[in-house]
Amino acid sequence: MAILNVDGVRQTYQTLAGETVALENITFSMEKGDFFSVVGPSGCGKSTLLSIIAGTLSPTAGQVTIAGQTVEGPSPHIGYMLQQDNLLEWRTIRQNVLLGLELRHQLTPEMKDRADHLLETYGLSGFANSHPSQLSGGMRQRAALIRTLAVNPDILLLDEAFSALDYQTRLEVTEDVYRIIRQEQVTALMVTHDIPESICMGDAVIILSQRPAVIRETLPIHFDLPVRSPLRCRSCPEFAGYFSHIWKELGMHETHSE
Ligand code: ADP
Ligand code: MG
Repeated sequence: MAILNVDGVRQTYQTLAGETVALENITFSMEKGDFFSVVGPSGCGKSTLLSIIAGTLSPTAGQVTIAGQTVEGPSPHIGYMLQQDNLLEWRTIRQNVLLGLELRHQLTPEMKDRADHLLETYGLSGFANSHPSQLSGGMRQRAALIRTLAVNPDILLLDEAFSALDYQTRLEVTEDVYRIIRQEQVTALMVTHDIPESICMGDAVIILSQRPAVIRETLPIHFDLPVRSPLRCRSCPEFAGYFSHIWKELGMHETHSE
């Protein structure tokens, strides 16, 4: 059974200028453990789609089901990772990681153990008592990911999560986040405007059109690698073909000749 079903989702916004159609007839599903990327032009409705899946925005038409349940309000099944890591400076890294559990009233000994185990597995136990400003940008993102995973979400949503980082850090964090998500077998849906990132991380790339966004294509991605990692994918022969395919689908050539 699919863990996520997005079925015929449409979203319109009422503005002073009239009605804006952001999403039109968006339908796709994900199996447990899938990692999908979503690319599309700026302003096409990517963040809107994630808000609908998270249940913080209710769609104008269509519906979302997670693990067989229709989403009808902010969903406890969702973990969200954004551009800002939103770590609280007055709390230590461990206290930050436990925050999500506290807010959900799930601070049981088992869940605390799970959080400590994640900190240890991913090399942050030495920083458990440090404050966020004492960590590098890359480590902060790792801590933010562990905080999100500590509540054991069914689906992880990432919205341009790495775009505030400089290029070098971004490559490192991508490597890190990819490894953790795969090792923990998390189902993840990642929005990015970075075509290489979408290819290197996804099992499939959902390509959205200009607004009103429809799915132009869901492109399966496969690299002939014994152990996949985003950096290794970048130097694979398949990479260039995927890149030019997505570039064409996004209609980048049309935008430039306008
Ligand atoms: P993306 O994340 O792909 O850049 P968004 O989902 O943020 O796009 O927005 C899609 C479109 O919907 C944009 O044209 C944006 O201006 C519009 N929009 C987003 N949120 C609102 C809102 N709360 N009210 C009115 N229009 C909105
Ligand atoms: Mg956005």
